[in-house]
Amino acid sequence: MKPAFDIIKELPKVDLHRHLDGSLRVRSILEIANQQQYTLPSADVKELEKYVTVAPDCRSLGDFLKAFETFYPILMNPSAMERIAFEASEDAFQDNVKYCEFRFAPVLQAKGDFSMQEILQGVLKGLEKAHTEYDIINPLILCCYRSESPASSLETVKLALENRKSVVGIDLAGDEEHYSAKDHLEAFQLAKENDLPITIHAGEAGTVHNIREAVELLHASRIGHGIHIIDDKDLYDYFKKNQIPLEMCLTSNIQTTVVPDLATHPFRSCYHDGLKVTINTDDPGVSSITLSDELHLLTRQYDLTIDDIKKIISNGIDASFTTEERKAILKKKFFN
Ligand SMILES: [Zn+2]
Repeated sequence: MKPAFDIIKELPKVDLHRHLDGSLRVRSILEIANQQQYTLPSADVKELEKYVTVAPDCRSLGDFLKAFETFYPILMNPSAMERIAFEASEDAFQDNVKYCEFRFAPVLQAKGDFSMQEILQGVLKGLEKAHTEYDIINPLILCCYRSESPASSLETVKLALENRKSVVGIDLAGDEEHYSAKDHLEAFQLAKENDLPITIHAGEAGTVHNIREAVELLHASRIGHGIHIIDDKDLYDYFKKNQIPLEMCLTSNIQTTVVPDLATHPFRSCYHDGLKVTINTDDPGVSSITLSDELHLLTRQYDLTIDDIKKIISNGIDASFTTEERKAILKKKFFN
């Protein structure tokens, strides 16, 4: 018998790939915009929803990105980001996500009146408040951005290192088809030298070459998406042998059309072949999904059992950027 949605929702869960700027509540977008006297396409929540989220059957990267563009200007503010970080944690907690690594790119939000440092402090305040109030561990990953300057990536890594207590890792996000990861080598070298864990968006819209580059050149120990891993047998075998985690995000991949449909998504073969696969939401606000939705999707689409779901959650704990002690505590709490 297939596990029902409620059983999956009740399970304690882990999300390793969740963007803060993709986790906004529609009502909050409206309220923050009002505070900032920023004009949105609609002042009605129901109507606005059509602009800031995509429909479940969205099959367009353009539409997906357009949703972000609609609300992005209101994010360049520490108190807005504090609220967003708090609410994103609250939403995760309400879905029984007990460990969630949130991420955002300070460089993108520091294009207005505030510095990267100021924006980060707002985010950390929101995360901390939610951690105090709810049973959720919600550390942060800072994203460097491919299309931004190498200097901004270096600054992002330095910021991460200065806030090591709350920032558990560093990421490289953005357009991997037109911008090389190599440009940001110095920043990732600095992260490596200081043992700051690295994950990189690679092999999502771009080719498997980017996955190889992320691991061999930029020292990534985890890969965001990595769906093109199936295109290089040697690298695939290396990932399998060394259990290098893949942060897969199914609905996001379908909506942005990097994979045509769930039937052809490489998740299934990678999982059954023993790769270290994790399932994550990417942008739950824009995609209008929860992690429970995504895991439930696996049971419907690929006939996975509740034990498979637990195995995937356990993979998430193994792959998390936390201490071995905390991993052991989480496993005990989740599965005993
Ligand atoms: Zn992502």
